[in-house]
Amino acid sequence: MEGSLPTPESQGYVMGTNPCLDRCWQYFNECIAQGKDQNECLAQLSYCQRNCAEQAPPEPAPEPTPAPQTCGQGPCPTCETELQMSNPCVLEAGHGGSHQCPEGHSF
Ligand SMILES: [Zn+2]
Ligand SMILES: [Zn+2]
Repeated sequence: MEGSLPTPESQGYVMGTNPCLDRCWQYFNECIAQGKDQNECLAQLSYCQRNCAEQAPPEPAPEPTPAPQTCGQGPCPTCETELQMSNPCVLEAGHGGSHQCPEGHSF
């Protein structure tokens, strides 16, 4: 009498929770069904399970969205003289050409 075969339940695994492990069990059941050596099938199963553990995708780290760098050059001379406001350039840092304030002046 050979030892009883492991099942997902006997290993505390719930089918459908991990596509990779699901496949391992699928292969294992096929392996047994094909009348292959049980030990070989078991070895394949544990190898497959190890692979799944290694391939488990790491927790997706939230991508830090860098705040858009603005040029900040200024203040706009037109705004200073006409509106008595101190408006720096609102274009992206490193832009070419002239600077532009929030009021739309170029300087
Ligand atoms: Zn301006
Ligand atoms: Zn600028």
